[in-house]
Amino acid sequence: MKIKTVEVNRYITKSKIEGIDFVINPYVGCPNACIYCYASFIKQLTSHKEEWGNFLDVKTTNYVLKKRSVNGKTYLMSSTTDCYNIYEEKYRVTRKILEELVKFDFNLIIETKNSLILRDLDLLKQIKNVKVIMSLNTLDDKIRSDLEKYSSIPDRLDTLKELHENGIYTILSISPIFPYITDYKEIINKTCDYVLEYRFSFLTLKKDYKREVLKYIKDKHSKYYMEYAKIYLLNDSSYFDNLKIEIEKYCQDLKIKYQFF
Ligand code: SF4
Repeated sequence: MKIKTVEVNRYITKSKIEGIDFVINPYVGCPNACIYCYASFIKQLTSHKEEWGNFLDVKTTNYVLKKRSVNGKTYLMSSTTDCYNIYEEKYRVTRKILEELVKFDFNLIIETKNSLILRDLDLLKQIKNVKVIMSLNTLDDKIRSDLEKYSSIPDRLDTLKELHENGIYTILSISPIFPYITDYKEIINKTCDYVLEYRFSFLTLKKDYKREVLKYIKDKHSKYYMEYAKIYLLNDSSYFDNLKIEIEKYCQDLKIKYQFF
């Protein structure tokens, strides 16, 4: 793992995401190294030669947040890294940012796969409107470890439970849904006691990681390969069209709050 510290003007960027004013990415790169990572294009914007998941730039800044750029705004942390990746334990960039932010009155959405977020419960509890999104797409930890490094499924479920018990609004993002592999019903049934909202997004395969994901399916889930080929090589959208209708019905019947992304 190549790690370096980089001085930046500021770690906050204006967001184009609907409902989000600003995005905070405390790191460049992500050690979670998910094979389907939609953010891996970030590597092209750096001079890194290492594979995605094998480099991490730790941001430092002297920028001081101003009240008018924070109060009443909605911040997302993070969009192209995991702000609680395993190196946050040492570098504490996310914690330092939160220590600054808690002085203001704003909305915060944190997206992570790691239990390290529990370290900062003291700060999260000081923020009036905070939501935490934890993502997973299987309850099978063997499949999880094929797709992503670090943070086991039991760890993520325990983290969501603990956040909920501490009064934090919990969202489970069932994402990305792998056709025929992700069992969304099983995940909802296991977690609905401590998850207040579900988000769903379907696996999309961009050209930089399409080959790797399809190879994984061929090697480890060969019985589904032809179905994946239909979806991702022949652009047949019927599987996800039908699944969307099915998920909507399931959530509406159970009166579950949900969104698609
Ligand atoms: S946690 Fe998110 S940003 Fe990090 S590798 Fe996985 S998908 Fe990419």
